[in-house]
Amino acid sequence: MAVRAVSLDLDDTLWPVLPALIEAEHCVDRWLQQHHPDVASAWPIEAMRELRDKIARENTHLAHDFSEQRRLTIRHAFAACGIDDAPVDELWRIYFAARNNVELYPDTLPALERIARHVPLVSISNGNADLEVIGLHHFFHTRLNASGVGVAKPHPQIFLAAAEALAIAPGDMLHVGDDPMLDVVGAREAGLRTAWLNRTGERWSHGPAPDLEFADMAALAEWIDATVSTDS
Ligand SMILES: [Mg+2]
Repeated sequence: MAVRAVSLDLDDTLWPVLPALIEAEHCVDRWLQQHHPDVASAWPIEAMRELRDKIARENTHLAHDFSEQRRLTIRHAFAACGIDDAPVDELWRIYFAARNNVELYPDTLPALERIARHVPLVSISNGNADLEVIGLHHFFHTRLNASGVGVAKPHPQIFLAAAEALAIAPGDMLHVGDDPMLDVVGAREAGLRTAWLNRTGERWSHGPAPDLEFADMAALAEWIDATVSTDS
């Protein structure tokens, strides 16, 4: 398989996202308890989470924009307490900082160093992780997310945008990610080669198998080392 570039999912591919999301919710909650205790008691973490889910369901036009969903959630929570000028920007900054305070999987950094030596990397994420804040941006030629492109994975357009950014054919790009539907099925339908990053050792049960499957980023780096250097 000739691979000229790699596109990478971020959340749950390079770091576990759940601990950062939970901590971000707690940071927002602590700030509310301190500055708006009435809002904090009306919207404990679980209620705020349900409100966000409801807002996501009711605003399908924002399906590609988690950040705007969250800002809307804050506005609703404050409005329900009779406060019209919600401190949206301040709370967004608090959430965003904690959400990007991720702990990389131990294999991520050495693997990115190895892979970036052989092929250009593009990030493709539906979430609002910021590689610059996380400190990994220098590995990536292009960084794409759903809110910037205007569609979310598995829409083919976001994968095609990655190939376009490098001026290569979709079939020359390998997309790597943990999510069977969003990453593997989505990328395959856009004409990319696919690798499933299967850290938990699940069985594939989503139709045609991915071209490749890796247990972690180190295994991907080994494959790139062996394949791309001999191909080129
Ligand atoms: Mg993911």
